[in-house]
Amino acid sequence: MQETECDVLVVGAGPSGCSAARAAASAGARTLLIEKKKEIGVPVQCAEAIGEYLIPYLPYRIPEKQLVWKINGMLFWADGLSVERTGGIWAGYAIDRVNFDTWLASGAVSAGAELKLATELIDLTLEDDNTVTQALVRTHGGAVLEITPRVVIAADGVHSRVLAELGFIEVENNCVEVLSYELMNLELYKPMLEQLYLGDFSPGAYGYIFPLARNRANVGVGSLFATRKLESCYEEFLELSVVKRQLKQAETVREKSGWAPIQYLSDRWQYGNIILTGDAANQNFKPFVEGVLPGIICGDIAGQTAAEAVFGTATLEVYPSRIADKLGSFFSESDTFLEVLYGLSTSSSATRHLLRLGISAGIFSPDALESLADLDYESIKNRLSTGF
Ligand SMILES: Cc1cc2nc3c(=O)[nH]c(=O)nc-3n(C[C@H](O)[C@H](O)[C@H](O)COP(=O)(O)OP(=O)(O)OC[C@H]3O[C@@H](n4cnc5c(N)ncnc54)[C@H](O)[C@@H]3O)c2cc1C
Repeated sequence: MQETECDVLVVGAGPSGCSAARAAASAGARTLLIEKKKEIGVPVQCAEAIGEYLIPYLPYRIPEKQLVWKINGMLFWADGLSVERTGGIWAGYAIDRVNFDTWLASGAVSAGAELKLATELIDLTLEDDNTVTQALVRTHGGAVLEITPRVVIAADGVHSRVLAELGFIEVENNCVEVLSYELMNLELYKPMLEQLYLGDFSPGAYGYIFPLARNRANVGVGSLFATRKLESCYEEFLELSVVKRQLKQAETVREKSGWAPIQYLSDRWQYGNIILTGDAANQNFKPFVEGVLPGIICGDIAGQTAAEAVFGTATLEVYPSRIADKLGSFFSESDTFLEVLYGLSTSSSATRHLLRLGISAGIFSPDALESLADLDYESIKNRLSTGF
């Protein structure tokens, strides 16, 4: 068996892993980034929307050419009522995840990380305090390589092997499926707006149309509930007249469905010499599992912290508080949102759809929900129209 050593072993070359590897290598740590797929970013399992509000938090600039379509805002729709929000936190861009993740991976390599594709983590040897002493990976062609890392960064996504090795094996109930398809030949109502639908077609679920171009979009459905069967939701979503009108000539380009964490998959973000980042750490914003830019930001902190631990200038224990310092307010807002939306999604009624719309569109604050709960449908509708 071949053997090798490294300072930082990063498992998974998605946004969080590439970012972690770039930061660790930039800080001078001998960094190995392994990715089980043969090609970065393929297949795409994402709706490819990023929020402009997070760009100031990024550790580096995204090149213009990665921002393939400008999004000016969002259109929320429930029960025949629509609300448009533009600018601020509602604006963003569409990206092409294959190109985007490839750009992130080349950033890690340019910083000095070694990238091994078609290389899958298959086993970790752990001491009682969860310190990894050895990692076994299967390389392209089937050979097994034994790695001795000083720090392991788990950036291996929602079906994390590292989490499984730590004993978190029943994580499915904390994850949800998102069905997503790239469609072309669309007649988009407003191509610069993302569209989000809440309604009878999908108790606890949402439908979306996220434009990629004037006549192309990622179209799909997601749910707050792990057990929800989404195929029928998707069919019902496509039957909504406002959706049907835009999709009447639609052709499917490719499927981009996948799974995302909706609840924490583990009780901590650091165990022994392991730190978790990205989806493996549930570092996405709910309810719409926005994880690409949070993954880059958290991955960068993971990589920096890992390198500092290697050089003895910090301990890995500081990692969670560093994340909290940077994105803590977003994560706690996201947790609150999720809780409120769970409460509203346990049963289906037109009034509840409007409340979900009001909360999702940022018109009603979660704190105001109690006072709104007694109002009838028309009163809530009026408040949504006036914004109070
Ligand atoms: C359908 C769908 C739509 C979404 N839409 C959006 C959106 O519009 N905007 C947004 O911001 N977020 C969206 N998300 C969430 C976003 O895709 C994730 O939050 C983001 O990809 C997380 O990045 P990551 O690097 O943590 O994990 P991933 O991108 O999942 O990367 C993990 C990598 O680890 C690799 N890996 C796994 N196991 C191993 C192993 N044992 N050995 C080696 N490598 C391994 C995987 O192959 C993968 O490449 C969506 C998610 C889904 C499912």
